[in-house]
Amino acid sequence: MSFKTMFIATGLSAVAIFSHAQEVQTPDPIAFHQCIERLQQLARHAGVSENTTVDILGQVKPLPKILGYDRNQPEFVQTFTGYFSKRVTDWRVNKGREKLAEHREFLFKLTQQYGVPAHYLISFWGLETNFGGIKGKIPTIAALTTLACDQRRSAYFSAELVQALLLLEREGLDHKNMIGSWAGAMGHTQFMPTAYMKYAKDGDADGKVDLWNNELDALASAAHFLQNLGWETGFRWGREVLLPEGFNYQLAGKSQPQPLSFWSQQQVTQVSGKTLGDSDLKAALLIPAGHTGSAFMVYPNFDVILRWNNSEYYGIAVGHLADRITGQGTLSKPLPELPHYTLAEMQQFQEKLNQLGFDVGEADGILGPATRKGVRGFQVSVGLIADGYPSKETVEAVMNTALNIEQEINS
Ligand code: CA
Repeated sequence: MSFKTMFIATGLSAVAIFSHAQEVQTPDPIAFHQCIERLQQLARHAGVSENTTVDILGQVKPLPKILGYDRNQPEFVQTFTGYFSKRVTDWRVNKGREKLAEHREFLFKLTQQYGVPAHYLISFWGLETNFGGIKGKIPTIAALTTLACDQRRSAYFSAELVQALLLLEREGLDHKNMIGSWAGAMGHTQFMPTAYMKYAKDGDADGKVDLWNNELDALASAAHFLQNLGWETGFRWGREVLLPEGFNYQLAGKSQPQPLSFWSQQQVTQVSGKTLGDSDLKAALLIPAGHTGSAFMVYPNFDVILRWNNSEYYGIAVGHLADRITGQGTLSKPLPELPHYTLAEMQQFQEKLNQLGFDVGEADGILGPATRKGVRGFQVSVGLIADGYPSKETVEAVMNTALNIEQEINS
C-alpha cells in the first residue's frame, strides 16, 4: 500500500508488512484538545451537525498505537515471490469461484452497467479483505482523528475525517460500528471515507449503502469505483508473456510502454506461444522477479488497478487472481527463490549505485521503478543480464565496483 498516491482505498495487507512496533508516546492532551477544536471547526464548515461535532468528535480519545503502525518500517524488502505466494493462493482462487457462482446474475448486471468484468471485482474483494473475512476492527473516527492530529499527513486525514463524519450522518450509522483498518479504510472493499461518500453504491436497493455487511453493495461499489478510475471495457489487465532468447531487458519497465505490434516484433508472445497481435494498444513489460521469473505485459487497465493501490505487485496479483478465478492456469514458471534484503542493505545498495552514477533517486530501500532502471544501467555496464533485478550477483558486483573505485581514489 502506497501513501504516495491518492490513497482512496487501502487494504489490510498494508498492516501485515509492518513487522516490528515502535514505541510512540501518547499525544500531548492539550495539543490534542486544540486539534479536536480545529477539526470541529472544519466539520461544522463542511455541514456536519452540531450533535455529531460535539457528541462524537468531541469525545474522541487518541489511539497512540495507530501512530506506531504509521511509523513502522518493514524490516525486509518485500520480494515478488513472497508477496505473490501469500496473496494468490488456491484458497482465494476457489473461494473466488464460489463467490462468482453465488452472485453470478448480479455480477452480470454490474458488468453491463459499469463495464468491469465480474472476475476482477471478485479478485479485488479477495485481496482486500479475503472476501470480507478480515475487514479490520479499529474504530474509524478515532483512527482518523489520531492521524489528523499527527503532523505527518494531517491535511489528508483531516479531510478524510470530515468525510467520515458526513458519511456517518448520511447513512445514519452508529459510530461504534464504523470500524476498519488503522488508516481508516472500511468494509469489504476497504474504501476510505472520501471514496465511500463518492463512489459507494446501494447494490441491493434497500436504501442504505453498507460496505461492512452487504456484499452486493460492496461489489456494486467496486464496479462503480473502477469505472470512475478509468477502466476500459473490453480490455484485459495484461498477461504473463514469454521472452525470446537474448531478449533486450532494457526495454522493460512500467515507464516504457510500446504498442503490442512492437512487442510482437521483439518476438514476445503469449505463454501459449500465440502472438500478441499487431494492434497499437500500449503495453509495458514488467519483470518483477528478475529474468529467472515470469514476465508480464501490462495494458492500460493495469494503471487503473494501480490507481486503486499503487503497487505493481498488487496489480499483478489482482490481474492474475482474476484470471485464475476464470479457470486460467498458474504462472508458467515457478516463483524463483529470491534473496532477502533488509531495508538497510537495500538502502546501502542504492547509495552505491548513486555514487557510481546510476541514478536511483532517494535511497529509500524500496525496489521501485527508479531503482530498477538504475540497476539495469549498471548491469549493462558490466555485462550482466539487464533485468533490473538486484540478484546476489548484481549486488556483489555493485559493492565490488564501488569498493575498487574507493581503493583507487585512496591509494
Ligand atoms: Ca444496500
